[in-house]
Formats: sequence, C-alpha cells, structure tokens
Amino acid sequence: MSLREFLNIMEEKGEILYIKDKVSPQFEVAYIMKNFDKNGPILMFENVEGYKTRVVANVCGTRKRICTALNVKEEELYKRLTEAWRSPKKPKIASDGPVKEVVKSDLSEIPILHHFERDAAPYVTSAVVYGRSVDGNIENVSVHRLQLLDKKHLAIRLVPRHLFKLWSMAKEAGKDLDVSISIGVHPAVMLAASSPLPFGVNEFEVANTLMDGGLRLIECEHVNAYAPAEAELVLEGKISAKKEVDEGPFVDITGTYDIMRKQPVVEIFGVIHRKDYVYQALLPSGAEHRLLMGLPHEVLIWDSVSKVVPKVHAVNLSEGGSGWLHAIIAIDKQLDGDGKNALLAAFAAHPSLKHAVVVDSDINVFDVSDVEWAIATRFQASEDLIVIENARGSSLDSSADQETGLTTKVGVDATRPFTKPKDKFERAKIPASEHAEEVIHNLSGLKKKISAH
Ligand code: MN
Repeated sequence: MSLREFLNIMEEKGEILYIKDKVSPQFEVAYIMKNFDKNGPILMFENVEGYKTRVVANVCGTRKRICTALNVKEEELYKRLTEAWRSPKKPKIASDGPVKEVVKSDLSEIPILHHFERDAAPYVTSAVVYGRSVDGNIENVSVHRLQLLDKKHLAIRLVPRHLFKLWSMAKEAGKDLDVSISIGVHPAVMLAASSPLPFGVNEFEVANTLMDGGLRLIECEHVNAYAPAEAELVLEGKISAKKEVDEGPFVDITGTYDIMRKQPVVEIFGVIHRKDYVYQALLPSGAEHRLLMGLPHEVLIWDSVSKVVPKVHAVNLSEGGSGWLHAIIAIDKQLDGDGKNALLAAFAAHPSLKHAVVVDSDINVFDVSDVEWAIATRFQASEDLIVIENARGSSLDSSADQETGLTTKVGVDATRPFTKPKDKFERAKIPASEHAEEVIHNLSGLKKKISAH
C-alpha cells in the first residue's frame, strides 16, 4: 500500500483540490496551505515555481481521512491503534520497488518549502526517519524536521528520544548513523512513526500491522537502512557523529518559533524516487501536524485513564491546545474522586500535557463551548482543581521555564459532584414534538425558497 493508492481513493471521493496556478515554494505554498487548513481538502500543487515536481499537502488533515486510510470506523480508531502497537509484524523485504526508479545524488531538484517568516531556512516537514543501532539489534522509525543547509546537507532536530539514543550510541562507537528519510508514505506509516512506542519497537512493524501486512521495505542503495518500497522519495544519509550546526528558529506545533539549538548534520549520499514522484508537505502547527502528533497521544491517555475509571467515552487533545498541551476527557464516573484519578492518569500518560479537563459523558469533548459550560456549572476551584508545580512539561511550551523546562500543570475536574443534589446539575430538556419538528421543517423549506430569489 502506498500514498499513491490512498490519493486515488481520495480523488474518487472528491477530496483533492488541484492548484494549477504557478506558486512559489517560498511562503506562497505555505500561505495557501494555511488558508485551507481547517477541515480542508488535500491540496495538490501542480506548478511550483522552479521545480518539475508536484507538491501534495494536508493528506492526514482530518480524523475522517485518517480513518479512511486505516479502513476503520471513527469509534474503533483507538482500539485499532492500541492493538497494532501491541502486535507489530515484520514487513516483507523486497529486492526492488517503485521508489528505486530514479537515482539522484543531491537535493537540488526537490521543492522543499519555506513556511514561516522567521524560519531559518526551507524545511522538510513530513520526513519519516529510519535508523538502527550499530549492533543491528534495535530499529526505530520517527518523524523529524530537517533544515535545508545546502544540496548535500540537512540539519536534523533530535529531541532526546529514540533516534537521539541511536545516534548517541553510534557516536560513542565513533560512527555516523545511517538513516533513510522517506517522504510521501501511506498515512499508516506516518501514524505509526508518530506513535509513542517503547524504545526497541520498530515502528515499520506497527505500520505493517495497521496495513494488514501491506508494507514492503527495500534496502537503500548508499546506506545501511530500510525504507518503504512504495515511498515517493527517499533521502539516503548519515547523521554525523561530529558535525553540529545551528538549527532553527522554526515554527513547531504550537505556532510559535522554536529556538535555535546546536543539532547534528545529515550528509546526503543518495536520493531515490519514483519517476513522477509527488513531494509531500506538512504545514507546521496546521491541522495535520496536530492530528499526527496528538492522535496517538489521545490513545495513550484513553488507555491510561481506562485503567482507573470504568469507562472513557472520548479524548480530545484540542485544537486550541495545539493538539499537544490540552486534553479534554469524557468519563463515566462511579464515585467522587474518579475525576481526579482520571486527571492524574492523563498526566502520567502524556508528559507534555499541561492542562486537562475531565467531564461527564453528556459533554461533547470536541465542542469547546460545551466543555466551557461544564466548567461553568459543575466545577468549583476550591474542591475540583489540581495544581502541580515544577513538573516536566513540553519543550514547545513558551511559558515554561526556559532554563529548567519546568512547568505548572493544572487539572480541572468538571464532572458533576455526587455530594450535591443531582437535579441541580440536570441539563434541561424541552419535550420533543413531532409537530414542532414538522413546523421547523416547513420553515426551513420556506427559508430556502426566499434565499433562492
Ligand atoms: Mn521509537
């Protein structure tokens, strides 16, 4: 399975908007992406100034599209993901694949985009990076931003997680780390690579489970690394053990500029791609970015909170919280105090989480006005508020202590308290009437007629 096959399905459903006008890879493509960000279609830029290659964007921009890609109903999504996390399956290794149709030596023909005003340079933002330990025992796949330095070099941001660890291990052995950087892969691969799995789990194997065994890998031409045989484009590189440069500033998930840091350099040894490859773009801080990073963490929160309360109905790492810092969790509460336990479980599951709200299941977690209503009518700060000072939070939180990285976490238990009379909290209903429905129906018909004139 490939990105291409998924795009064919989306094309049939009319979910792709084609942009035929000539647009610049510097800001213009990003500006148009931003304009169509909210619940927007997939964008296909067919004429990017200075390049022959088309650019596709916003592929995983809605929950619905992600569910279509995984062939799963929205209410089954979390279950499907946790099952795949628990049962990784080795993909087949193919001797050849469409990604090997063309072999190039540098980055000069790739339409890498410059997104925001003060970004340091053009960045690759949808890169799925594979690396394995020097002893060959541990494989890892993760998503990283890559800053364009010149046609043979990129700077890679390594948050101290798994790829960072593999790189540190290689460095100790005095070696560079071989990596494949795949751009334009099936959404299942993107989602697996974004998932918070333990060190040692190969995310390609999780992707393969999500694709029902449909992932094939090839060995790279110039480095010791695997990459999806059906990828659009693969960069073959080595993360230098010695060479570091200034990386950033760059707009990350919160829509604010992440600071400049010393980060390692990737030297490019080869570029392989399909003959008519599509370059995949992803708008930093856009809906797709928030969903790919947030959704797997909603699953973690859902799983963790499910262990302390009888039923979790829904989790939303909300848009306003950048899909990362704010969670809203709807539960069935059995006893007072369940709400607070749910909050603690959520903070434990997602260490970057800063503010969390727990509500009853009659509240729609995806409707923030509804959540605000629950806080307005069911929450008392003196009883229902948790404040945890000096906890470790996200490096992307501008308000956290920039030196220590410490932050204050706040939990809001906006579930109905059992100690107070139930009827005070009842959401008032107006009795349904078929006749009233009919009247409404007729009125809206009339409205249509008037507006048609
Ligand atoms: Mn990993």
